[in-house]
Amino acid sequence: MSEFRFRAAPSPTGKVHIGTIRAYLPNYLLAKKYGGKNILRIEDTDQKRLVPNGVEAMIEAYEEVGITFDEGPHRGGAFGPYVQSERLEIYRKYAKQLIDQGDAYYCFCSKERLEELRATQSANKQKTMYDGLCRNIPREEAQKRVDGGEPHVIRMKFPKEGGTVCQDLIFGKVSVKNSDVEDQVLMKGDGFPTYHLAVVVDDHLMGITTAIRGVDWLPSYPKHVVLFKMFGWEPPQFAHLPLILNPDGRKKLSKRHGAFPVSQILRKGYLKEAIMNYSILCGWAPKPEEAHQDEIYTPEELIQLFDLDRVHKTAARYDQAKFDYINSKHIRNLSIDALVERVFQWAEKYVLGTFMSDEYTEPAEWEGSLKDAIKKYLPLWKADIEHFKRALSLEHERISMLAEIPAALDFFYEEELSWEDEDWNTKNHTKVELATALENVLPKLEEIFKKDVFDHEEWEKVVRGYADELGWKHGDLFLAIRSATTGRLQSPPLLDCYEIMGWKKVRSFIEQAITWLNK
Ligand code: GLU
Repeated sequence: MSEFRFRAAPSPTGKVHIGTIRAYLPNYLLAKKYGGKNILRIEDTDQKRLVPNGVEAMIEAYEEVGITFDEGPHRGGAFGPYVQSERLEIYRKYAKQLIDQGDAYYCFCSKERLEELRATQSANKQKTMYDGLCRNIPREEAQKRVDGGEPHVIRMKFPKEGGTVCQDLIFGKVSVKNSDVEDQVLMKGDGFPTYHLAVVVDDHLMGITTAIRGVDWLPSYPKHVVLFKMFGWEPPQFAHLPLILNPDGRKKLSKRHGAFPVSQILRKGYLKEAIMNYSILCGWAPKPEEAHQDEIYTPEELIQLFDLDRVHKTAARYDQAKFDYINSKHIRNLSIDALVERVFQWAEKYVLGTFMSDEYTEPAEWEGSLKDAIKKYLPLWKADIEHFKRALSLEHERISMLAEIPAALDFFYEEELSWEDEDWNTKNHTKVELATALENVLPKLEEIFKKDVFDHEEWEKVVRGYADELGWKHGDLFLAIRSATTGRLQSPPLLDCYEIMGWKKVRSFIEQAITWLNK
């Protein structure tokens, strides 16, 4: 067998989200697995959908996630050009060939006629499709009208008898009755090919062995199989991937429910390996004997394990909680040194830097405040990397995305804390009672910690002892101290934090808290 050649064939909308990542990831994984080639082909024949820099922005997004291409507009290659609008002459030649062999015809039907036809068919509850009016215009007469400048398209002469059977790598056998298939337009009035002609010509000329695309193209598959046959070409194997739906399982993944631009996903601090891991699990799982209980796979493992025959036929549902879980696991799997490195790269490249797609992507509401936080904290983090590493290691197992880090570590870096009512547990004690308890416990803590030695046993003994004196639950007093010294109800173990913060800062926060509670 010659080498496997896969292709991603996006329209240059500039948009890359989990759905498109999942659509193109199989190409990349399989090309790596079998030592094949992953090709990028830009399908820009629908000129209405073009976005400035859309191609470059998409390439940037794919490559940041780790989906790289061996051939494409940015890489070159022996099968170019890789942009369909630069291949118009090729499609014209092949459309002409079909006309000459009697497998296609010129159609002169006006837009108005087609609209009327559609309306009548709908009213009669018939399938709406072209009725073949121009199919039988004699070749010479049609040619004369074309030469005379009459507007026209080129349609495929789809066989009317019998049926067409196609084999899909995921859906198996797909068959249609030929009389149900319309004579597809292959060349439009503007001289551009439709997707149907271009995909067949390009997949053939580019030597594609396996064409993976969305299930929305499955109904067009028979047309393509017949086109390949008309040209006398062997079609590649096709695999149609099921959709990813919104969490409610009803509609296609939408902007509000998970189809976030990949630029924003990266900026929020999802790691590229987590993006790959989560996307590929939308509608696929490894063989049970090869699956990992925790569903965490490195890109290298995915290259080994992925195969099309285990892709589900049913649509997947977007699951944000699962994505977050997968990301938190990949964060944990980094060593603390690697994590520090990643955080700096992320902050500089993705938060302070820009993506090409930012130009036409509506910023999410959190983006501005994240950028402000990074501007403020990044220099502090970098000023003492050892200190940052110690603080970060306390949060390493707690965060699920990097954008949580500025807020998670703020009390290590701030000189003043601020509180809201919900940062305190006032179920059992009023704010004034909490203030009094803190006032009284402060000198006791000062006694044990003033030399910056954080004796765990002493600390436990003192806090529990004083809680007993007050007749409080121990937990209530620990919680009050936690709120006072970290500004929140949940934090890493306090003494671990204090060791990094130092007693002076801890004492200052307790004093600030007392003032705040008494206000
Ligand atoms: N250009 C098509 C799209 O944007 C992809 C078709 C294909 O992969 O064959 O949906």
